[in-house]
Amino acid sequence: MLAPFTAGWQSTDLHPLVIEKSEGSYVYDINGKKYLDSLAGLWCTALGGNEPRLVAAATTQLNKLPFYHSFWNRTTKPSLDLAKELLETFTTTKMAKAFFTNSGSEANDTQVKLVWYYNNALGRPDKKKFIAREKSYHGSTLISASLSGLPALHQKFDLPAPFVLHTDCPHYWRYHLPGETEEEFSTRLANNLESLILKEGPETIAAFIAEPVMGAGGVIPPPATYFEKVQAVVKKYDILFIADEVICAFGRLGTMFGCDKYNIKPDLVSVAKALSSAYMPIGAVMVSPEVSDVIHSQSNKLGSFSHGFTYSGHPVSCAVAVEALKIYRERNIPEHVKQIAPKFQGGLKAFSASPIIGEIRGTGLILGTEFSDNKSPNDPFPPEWGVGAYFGAQCEKHGMLVRIAGDNIMMSPPLIITAEEVDELISIYGKALKATEERVN
Ligand code: PLP
Repeated sequence: MLAPFTAGWQSTDLHPLVIEKSEGSYVYDINGKKYLDSLAGLWCTALGGNEPRLVAAATTQLNKLPFYHSFWNRTTKPSLDLAKELLETFTTTKMAKAFFTNSGSEANDTQVKLVWYYNNALGRPDKKKFIAREKSYHGSTLISASLSGLPALHQKFDLPAPFVLHTDCPHYWRYHLPGETEEEFSTRLANNLESLILKEGPETIAAFIAEPVMGAGGVIPPPATYFEKVQAVVKKYDILFIADEVICAFGRLGTMFGCDKYNIKPDLVSVAKALSSAYMPIGAVMVSPEVSDVIHSQSNKLGSFSHGFTYSGHPVSCAVAVEALKIYRERNIPEHVKQIAPKFQGGLKAFSASPIIGEIRGTGLILGTEFSDNKSPNDPFPPEWGVGAYFGAQCEKHGMLVRIAGDNIMMSPPLIITAEEVDELISIYGKALKATEERVN
């Protein structure tokens, strides 16, 4: 198998870890070894590994109608139900319409097409560029990889596409100037964003896309006042704001959406992952009434909105997602996250004093650890030491899976994690850290 984000041919030379079963916050490999799944799959199995209501929703739907499409004004009941539920769940601003995809990448590709279609309808053919941020992750299709600000997604793929510009990554620890406060740092970044817009010409910039908390780029929560300031700039130049909530949505930050936490008022929103707790592939785009009205009139004029996928609004995925949304609300999952987050964040941040840790950062149930020498963002360990990889291997040895990206370690456990499981997570992290410190020193 040629595996995603893997070097080489996985099944032959790389001896992959083969996962066979999941249960709550745990997964099991084919040898029966149990692991605490500290990344919830890929930041997605919010309700853990064996939620019977999701399984029942899928099987009931499979028995009734395993597939029908949503093209040409035909559709299915689960897709209509999900559109309604999803729009009601998002309360930061009013959203008018939902469009379904199979993934977060497709959701972000759809955003670009929607925004271009919108500006064409408004007679603004030059307003087509997108601004994303360095270190963002928005997916790996041609367009979503272009939006992403991670060099590995561009190198040797002839990306990013020319309509994408990247502005500063809002990572205070790494990029602030000596003596600069978080608020001043946010002001400088907002000013840089404005300079970029003015340099390019505001009439050419269509949209700005941002994750409320950057995930795959290393778990980077925004510095104080950041979103307030960049939103003001974007608004000033009639640029649409797209919130990529693919990781943050449905409780991960202790609020239903990341937009709630940071008072982001987006025009468009992307969701995926926890939308179905990852039990079935599905993503969605939510569209504000203002944007939706324009798209509607354009599609009426053209006779169709000619975009979509065979599986847009797949009835089984939608049935599972409807049930997942019900569970998030009934069990008040955002509140559970809010309650348990101090234990998770506090327990792990207590390791910040380690001489090999540069920074531990996070909020809610998402956290990143960055290893570096001398507590400095400018003193990385030599890559050949493999500090992050060694820490990750130690976690695995002790029964926990983490996300390793160089010397960045990321965690985002299932949102149903219990206090005892958080204790176990912290204990394994501590053992892996001790072993890593001994190796480095
Ligand atoms: N956007 C964000 C913020 C993500 O973290 C991801 C995946 O990790 C995506 C988009 C892409 O989603 P998918 O892998 O479902 O295409």
